[in-house]
Amino acid sequence: MKILSIETSCDETSVAVVEDGRKVLTNRIYSQIDIHKKYGGVVPEIASRNHVMKLPYIIEEALEESGLSFSDLDAIAVTNGPGLVGALLIGVSEAKALAYSLGLPLIGVNHIEGHIAANFLQHPDLEPPFLTLVVSGGHSHLVMVRDYQTFEIIGKTRDDAAGEAYDKISRVLGLGYPGGPAIDRAAKKGNSHAVEFPRVFLEKDSYDFSFSGLKSAVLNYLNSKKMKEEPIVVEDVAASFQLAVIEVLVEKAIHCALEQKVDKICMAGGVSANSLLREMMQEKAKENGLALYYPAPILCTDNAAMIGSMAYYNYINGVKSDLYLNAVPGLKIGSR
Ligand code: ATP
Ligand code: MG
Ligand code: FE
Repeated sequence: MKILSIETSCDETSVAVVEDGRKVLTNRIYSQIDIHKKYGGVVPEIASRNHVMKLPYIIEEALEESGLSFSDLDAIAVTNGPGLVGALLIGVSEAKALAYSLGLPLIGVNHIEGHIAANFLQHPDLEPPFLTLVVSGGHSHLVMVRDYQTFEIIGKTRDDAAGEAYDKISRVLGLGYPGGPAIDRAAKKGNSHAVEFPRVFLEKDSYDFSFSGLKSAVLNYLNSKKMKEEPIVVEDVAASFQLAVIEVLVEKAIHCALEQKVDKICMAGGVSANSLLREMMQEKAKENGLALYYPAPILCTDNAAMIGSMAYYNYINGVKSDLYLNAVPGLKIGSR
């Protein structure tokens, strides 16, 4: 079954064709990063306008690259939430028009379930149940994936998402947007024990996260250094901040997997491309007899292939949409 999928929830305009939920035939991604860079973050209205301008061409490119035509497709899938409402609407409208005109089924996909499904593309033999650490621009969640349609949230951030914290700290350090890759790079040249920032574990047995205290601690540190007119070593602050984030993510995820009695742990979302997270998680997973899975970096950040994978599992489990499908900016994991 070949599904053409569309992803426009934020600032990536992406179109893919995925076969049977596991095989990527094409995955075209047009990133608007260069457009939004000068504003220090994504400007929703500008993102929507660029989706409108680019999407039809990206669909054409995707078909051309895969050597397919519309008549080879079996269904159309689209992210319908969570994300920026204006941005989502562009993809949803295009997907509806395609499904209607081609007489194909329409499948709405939850963006976060899509991030999780990126693991199915990278690891063709991977099957639920497993625990997933979802760490992206808007989410820091521990999700038990019991089967292809059952997602149970065990813990989530009470304030900032991990990626959001990276982006904000990168901005104050003058490292630019997007912050994750910039901090990842800078941290490699810094001393991660130069500053002991707080590790926030919350109540005992809680699997929730909180990164706003750490964010304030970094801001306070920078302000006090400036006031005392002492030099700031950006690489050291980046490395120390990063270690404080990653230590908490790894420890909670490993504990949670052991408590849930699963032997597999997956990572998903943009922050799962982080080199220290991958390294530390690998080490701890091995120590605890857990198998670790994560997608290639290009499948960690927003892309349409992950949406095509999740769409397949929705479809074969009878979850389809109709032409009333709407964009839902606050769509929760496990709902559509
Ligand atoms: P959501 O998926 O929650 O709706 P989003 O789609 O904006 O949010 P993603 O595209 O999954 O988020 O990920 C983008 C985030 O990942 C950004 O915050 C970015 O800084 C972060 N990120 C990307 N690469 C890295 C990296 N190497 N290290 C840390 N963070 C990273
Ligand atoms: Mg993005
Ligand atoms: Fe995302």
